[in-house]
Amino acid sequence: MNLFDVYSLFDIVPVKAHLQHVWDDKGQEYLDFYGGHAVISVGHTHPDYVAALKAQLDKIGFYSNSVINPLQVELAHKLGKASGYEDYSLFLDNSGAESNENALKLASFHTGKDRIIAFHHSFHGRTSGAVAVTDNPKIVSPFNANHKVTFCDLNDAAAVEQVLQGGDVAGVIIEGIQGVGGMHAPTAGFLQTLSKLCKQYGAVLILDEVQSGYGRTGKFFAHQWAGIKADIITMAKGMCNGFPCGGILISPEFEAVKGRLGTTFGGNYLAMAGAIAVLDIMEKEHLADNAHKVGEYIKAHLPQSPKIKEVRGTGLMIGIEFNEPIAEIRRKLLFEKHIFTGVAGTNMIRLLAPLCVTEEDAQYFIDSLKDIIK
Ligand code: PMP
Repeated sequence: MNLFDVYSLFDIVPVKAHLQHVWDDKGQEYLDFYGGHAVISVGHTHPDYVAALKAQLDKIGFYSNSVINPLQVELAHKLGKASGYEDYSLFLDNSGAESNENALKLASFHTGKDRIIAFHHSFHGRTSGAVAVTDNPKIVSPFNANHKVTFCDLNDAAAVEQVLQGGDVAGVIIEGIQGVGGMHAPTAGFLQTLSKLCKQYGAVLILDEVQSGYGRTGKFFAHQWAGIKADIITMAKGMCNGFPCGGILISPEFEAVKGRLGTTFGGNYLAMAGAIAVLDIMEKEHLADNAHKVGEYIKAHLPQSPKIKEVRGTGLMIGIEFNEPIAEIRRKLLFEKHIFTGVAGTNMIRLLAPLCVTEEDAQYFIDSLKDIIK
């Protein structure tokens, strides 16, 4: 049997990793500035994380959500403290798309309405519900209209208000920083207005922090730079450092109705043990602060080059937009300098490094890029 051929693959076989380093089957070492697409938060095979997963596997690996799982309670407690959303509730699932689907569903249940406002260049996942609010022509199918969706321009509050005036809006979904769409961020002022408008018109404000959350920008969630609170926050990627895990934080205004949300694997013992370890490590090693410090170092020291059009992002969520396609630059970074990076569109290199990278790592990346584009 062949694999369904939907991924473009680099000819590299990683077999080992430690913190921000990855080794392939030929023994070549790489610096990971991609983090498996913003998933590696505390670092590959962090010893505390590995120990937590191994210990849990020896006790109990799986049961179902029909019994009490104290690890879910512990995670909720720690996540409330770490995120500042202590009065919210946690629902656990398995991925970013699933988190967004659950958020959209809750918004409709809560308001009895079915329109969602999303933003151009957004990305919220590839399941049919999540893709419906994703503005990416490559992945949108014509048969996914569980919600009516209106797309607005990012930072255009007047356009949002006009749609809200229609009276049929269940919620507004917005990324903390647009990842796949090229690191465009809502301004603090726009988020503050959005928060006010949502309250005024009774719409649910859903912050998709699947990529921008979990300390990546220096705050626990990117929208916290704007000093606002969302009604629902969706999470996944960095939550369990590579073990599949997702979840949503839900404002106390939402009623929990038995059977309304559910999943077989969400909140499983192994994901919980890993996710608790991630929060403990983040706190102990001040990884959000480190992400901000190293990210700002990168932005301040990137080479001045006519080839670079703009640099966007906060902390370790950085997009370097070039005036030309970057495929060759990215290939050279990988095969000559041995640095993994990400991409957005054709002209942007995207950096989503593990939160534990150092300024020395950053300098190596900067020197390598300088050398390639000189
Ligand atoms: N939301 C955002 C902002 C994302 O970046 C992604 C993944 N790139 C998703 C949702 C979907 O997450 P998953 O692939 O885990 O379903």
